[in-house]
Amino acid sequence: MPLNHKAALFLVATPIGNLSEVSQRCLDVLKSVDVIACEDTRNTQKLLSHFDIHTRTITYHNFNEKDSTKGIIKLLENKESVALVSDAGYPLISDPGYQLVNEVIGCGFDIITISGPNAALNALVASGLPTSHYLFYGFLNPKSSQAAKELEALKSFPYTLIFYEAPHRIEKTIALALKILGDRKACLARELTKIHEEYHRGTLKQLSELHDLKGEMVLIVEGCSEVKKEDMGTLLQKVNELIASGYRAKEAISEIAGIYDVSRNSLYDAYLEEKKQGEK
Ligand code: SAM
Repeated sequence: MPLNHKAALFLVATPIGNLSEVSQRCLDVLKSVDVIACEDTRNTQKLLSHFDIHTRTITYHNFNEKDSTKGIIKLLENKESVALVSDAGYPLISDPGYQLVNEVIGCGFDIITISGPNAALNALVASGLPTSHYLFYGFLNPKSSQAAKELEALKSFPYTLIFYEAPHRIEKTIALALKILGDRKACLARELTKIHEEYHRGTLKQLSELHDLKGEMVLIVEGCSEVKKEDMGTLLQKVNELIASGYRAKEAISEIAGIYDVSRNSLYDAYLEEKKQGEK
């Protein structure tokens, strides 16, 4: 039993490329649990062999989720602790495990997370795009018609968007994002933590000119910076309230633009326009 704890399910993040990103806590848990449930045992075996870990492994993937969940709950009932790992990064993040976690919580067992690498966050923080609010979308539907609908639904979302994509679909996805979201700032992060790690920063139009992209990649896209007309009215009202309470116009605009994460210039233009209309 690890860490002097009653039987628990450990959600263990593993490296997304560079094995030296593995944490001591990750190794301790993988060594001391009774069983490691893997998305692909052959894949995880490489990590275990590298660190000389001999814990028993079983499979837990999308195709055996139901049966495997039952099996893991049985193990926990027998006071055997289990670590869930995926091929790379965090389990459950565009990887299997949600059903298991849900049921394990329902059965009253503890869930313990072991922090580690995650491709989405690495890409986000280095993208140069706003990080205070973001949406992790993961994979778009592989069918272009469905992906187009998903992008339509995200079109007016004001925060940074994070997508995972397979290399053979990335060019199509960038082209589709450009068509539906328009030409926005974007970053393509490739082969994170590996020798050929690389960031292409620019706009979707510039990224659409890249070809023969290989390896694993994350696409980060700026959120919608246009404010809908009806929303602008509400924001101007808030600006005017601040001005009435003693703020200078510029300070009030900065404050409201910051709080609602909208472009200060657009809000300033709308404010001037409103003033002009009021003077007529
Ligand atoms: N669970 C993983 C995580 O926490 O990041 C993600 C698993 S998902 C099945 C695999 C996708 O993650 C890849 O198609 C790619 O979009 C992204 N990814 C994983 N490793 C990466 C890396 N080293 N560099 C860039 N993207 C990566």
